[in-house]
Amino acid sequence: MCLLCDAKSAALDSTNASSNPLRWSSRRAFVLAAGATAVLPALAQVDVGGGSSLRKLVPADQLEKAATQQYGQMMDEARSKGALAPEGHPQLVRLRAIASRLIPQATKWNSRAGNWKWEVNLLGSKQINAFCMPGGKIAFYTGILDQLKLSEDESAMIMGHEMAHALREHARARLAKSQATSLGLSLGAQLLGLGDLGNVAANLGTQLLTLKFSRDDETEADLVGLELAARAGYEPGASVTLWKKMVASSGSGGPGFLSTHPAGPDRIVQLEANVPKVRGLYEQARKK
Ligand SMILES: [Zn+2]
Repeated sequence: MCLLCDAKSAALDSTNASSNPLRWSSRRAFVLAAGATAVLPALAQVDVGGGSSLRKLVPADQLEKAATQQYGQMMDEARSKGALAPEGHPQLVRLRAIASRLIPQATKWNSRAGNWKWEVNLLGSKQINAFCMPGGKIAFYTGILDQLKLSEDESAMIMGHEMAHALREHARARLAKSQATSLGLSLGAQLLGLGDLGNVAANLGTQLLTLKFSRDDETEADLVGLELAARAGYEPGASVTLWKKMVASSGSGGPGFLSTHPAGPDRIVQLEANVPKVRGLYEQARKK
């Protein structure tokens, strides 16, 4: 899944950041800068394009089903080891409260999300980690809350980021690419319907756990997550303090986590540049 720690490998991706398809709406930025209070359009403020058409090779419903199964197994295993936070656990209660504010914003990014059976759980682990599987299955590790001493706003930024991966179907696109490769078929054959995709779902669940997102996916998740959280009334500046904490924690989150963190400064600069653009959404949400 997202494995925030993958920021390291993402940073090593040679993708040129300037080719990033993300563009904040300049018109919207202008409106915000002008302090106008016009009624907000229903559509999202970030322009992130239509998503990878490759993802259609993996049926969304099958992927969501596989993710649900995998998530259920993970939670069962955690429970059997006493590592699943029980109902009423204060940190879990706080996370679910955050989710209840973010989830109503989700369908703006993916209409399927309206039918997702969202779940939020907390796993006892020192790992600095969190994820949201396709279909809205969210988990936080206690390590990320405790070691980074996250505020509510910062926790919301992480949850928004993870939800954004699911809403933008990054896993679906990644799996479609790897599936096409592993079948040894040209994408052309796949697209013409000649590929054997019947067994795709069988392996999806396990692949989800080792999935690595690209740098572009991470950037998209940062920005979409920032907007989701702002719309839910969470302070946009928390995205910046969150990543500063991530950088500061380098090396303390278990093997490989941000042991080098070239992504940190990049992300922070980009988030700092975008925070003012969602501040209007945040302020409007606070008035409700
Ligand atoms: Zn991510």
